[in-house]
Amino acid sequence: MKDVALNQIRAEYDRKRLKALNDAELRKNRIYETFPRIEEIDKEIALLGIKLSKFMILKPENLNYEISEIKKQIDNLKIEKNGMFEEKKIPKDYFDIKYECSICKDTGFLENGEKCKCYKQRLIESLYNMSNIKYMLNKENFDAFNINLFSNEKYRNEDITPKQNMHKILSTCEVFCNDFNKINASMLFYGGTGLGKTFMCNCIANELIQNGKTVIYQTAPNIIEIVENHRFNKNEETVLNRENYNYLFNCDLLIIDDLGTEFNNSFTNSELFNIINTRMTSGKKMVISTNLELDKLAITYSDRIISRIFNEFTICYFFGKDLRWESC
Ligand SMILES: [Zn+2]
Repeated sequence: MKDVALNQIRAEYDRKRLKALNDAELRKNRIYETFPRIEEIDKEIALLGIKLSKFMILKPENLNYEISEIKKQIDNLKIEKNGMFEEKKIPKDYFDIKYECSICKDTGFLENGEKCKCYKQRLIESLYNMSNIKYMLNKENFDAFNINLFSNEKYRNEDITPKQNMHKILSTCEVFCNDFNKINASMLFYGGTGLGKTFMCNCIANELIQNGKTVIYQTAPNIIEIVENHRFNKNEETVLNRENYNYLFNCDLLIIDDLGTEFNNSFTNSELFNIINTRMTSGKKMVISTNLELDKLAITYSDRIISRIFNEFTICYFFGKDLRWESC
């Protein structure tokens, strides 16, 4: 990612923060105009506060009476103000600044200087060209999922119907999201195209991003490209390029879409194993989606990858008729 992009993100945070401050100011002014007594109270409280801190700096031991009198006055004013809020039906938090992210107050950083989750996710979206993801995620989420698209008639030799199957998959995915911090499992989605795998990946990404998790959603060929850039351009690599690579290992969830469509050789195989293995060893979860059948998957990838996936992933098989044709 170029510095320009980074500056853009920083400016975006500045704008967000200023907007939150401005909006709060506007709300306050509106109330002050309508109910001037509330403004008076706030001013009185502010003045008393200044007086109080002056006394505290002076010799508080000689001013005990004055200090307790001021505190009493402030308390009374607060009671009066709360009473007015209640009477005028103004929400208690109406004057509060409503930041998009209450953790970092839209600064992008925590008090200890670390990046906030929201900022990391924003960087990821920019680094991985996931700018369209917000649009997709608004459209494709658990609430928008329509189980009735799936047929309730038996499909080939399967024991359950595609609809029953999707019910099962949906509840597995919901548990995956709800218990994300507790469970230590990754998921493999396999089956033909147009059966809802991508939709389900979007649902999961959406849910977890909303819960403050960092999510990278990339196709397998893109992931290989990131790895190649890192491996082969080491001398010219910028800090941000390295971050780009490191997030593959560090983000809370890595979604690898379309596994099997990347150019496959021993390099890609060992790099994929490295990502999968490192993430699993450090308890980081993945969702991998592929159009390949399991036997084809087993031939395509090294035994090390396959044994990790087959033994440790929750495997969801998507079957039925291609929904994209159904809706045409
Ligand atoms: Zn934040």
